[in-house]
Amino acid sequence: KSLEPLMSATPAVKLQPVRGMRDLFGAEQRRHAAVRETARQVALSYGFAEIETPVLEFTEVFLRTLGDSSDVVTKEIYAFRDQGEVDLCLRPENTASVMRALVSNGLTQALPQRLFYAGPMFRRERPQKGRYRQFSQVGVELIGAPEPLADVEVIACGQDFLSRLGLDGQLRLEINTLGDSASRSAYRAALVEYFSQHRAALSPESQTRLTQNPLRILDSKQEADRALIAEAPRFDAYLNPASEAFFAQVCSGLDALGIAYQRNPYLVRGLDYYNHTAFEFISDNLGAQGTVLAGGRYDGLLETMGGPSIAGIGWASGVDRLALLDSFATPATPKPLVVMPLDAEAEAEALRVARALRQAGQTVLLSSQGKLAKRLKLANRLDASHAIMIGSEELARGDASVKALASGTQSQQRLDLLKKGVWHGAA
Ligand code: ATP
Ligand code: MG
Repeated sequence: KSLEPLMSATPAVKLQPVRGMRDLFGAEQRRHAAVRETARQVALSYGFAEIETPVLEFTEVFLRTLGDSSDVVTKEIYAFRDQGEVDLCLRPENTASVMRALVSNGLTQALPQRLFYAGPMFRRERPQKGRYRQFSQVGVELIGAPEPLADVEVIACGQDFLSRLGLDGQLRLEINTLGDSASRSAYRAALVEYFSQHRAALSPESQTRLTQNPLRILDSKQEADRALIAEAPRFDAYLNPASEAFFAQVCSGLDALGIAYQRNPYLVRGLDYYNHTAFEFISDNLGAQGTVLAGGRYDGLLETMGGPSIAGIGWASGVDRLALLDSFATPATPKPLVVMPLDAEAEAEALRVARALRQAGQTVLLSSQGKLAKRLKLANRLDASHAIMIGSEELARGDASVKALASGTQSQQRLDLLKKGVWHGAA
């Protein structure tokens, strides 16, 4: 459709971002970047390689995998028909995209694959603190590794990432097993029987879940459901020996690493393709938006998407929520040097000095407008360490006048050396 009618009908531009979406700048942006960078470094140390998938995907990539009843598909997905032809959506999460990418690129021929990602995700939720419509996730996926030690390594990677953000002692790790598919279907049948007897007391959402995805009732935050959930059958009674053994090995691996965890029998995860291990790292400092990292095993996922049957385990972590916590310091911006040509004659030399110092690794601003006193004031406001002043006198002497802004101390530095990027950052 043409945008022309819209253009003529719009009286003025709304200079606002779309609801639930934010502009990130300054300290907040640096905190987000620090969280992503920390995750990247820790993931690299575990041998994960970064993958970047498109923000737009065919909607069907997510429809199959999230299950028709998951929150994401029923109400949160930003989907649209492009040019009246194909159904596309903004990705609500990245695991399905990564699995799609494995198949698209023939990477399922070279397993296992260890992949890390960082980027924006989109869900139309009610915006509140720690919950936005565009938010940022980092995550890892270990694909083609069916063994319990893979679960241990993936959880350890998450733990190391959160530790490096200073969160030791401020988070709890909750873990559960959803068993293999045989255990799951036995448990599902028991849940259906139990909740059907109390159908009328369930919240409307959970009544829908009862027919579509009964396990997710356990995940309900509704007051009405909580009391019933407390009396519901426990998964433990339905785990077969193979599933029990798998979970025991995951737990003993965590024990071997000294990673503390709590069993939460109600932890089922919001998405429908998980089996065996499910886990969440939760902070008590974020209110209802306390889960900062969540993951699990999804051996059935790729097959549901029409691909080969390949085991996988991973986690995703909410960058926005981690950036809100005060466990790590906001990274400082480098203190710049400010190069000031004092007259038109010195401008070319000032440009050269600034560029050479940058090429040598310094952060350099050029300040060429206004009275010197004003420029020095601005340099102070920009938290600069030094002003490097070059005028016709300096050109004649072959020296720049350098002022250390904190102490006020003045000194000279040779222009020919500055133009080679040689900097003596004395006070
Ligand atoms: P929640 O129960 O909080 O809605 P979820 O189960 O939908 O979480 P996942 O799909 O597991 O979340 O995503 C992993 C992590 O991404 C979450 O633990 C959270 O930290 C973050 N996250 C999810 N949705 C949002 C959002 N709308 N805004 C900010 N962060 C989010
Ligand atoms: Mg959600």
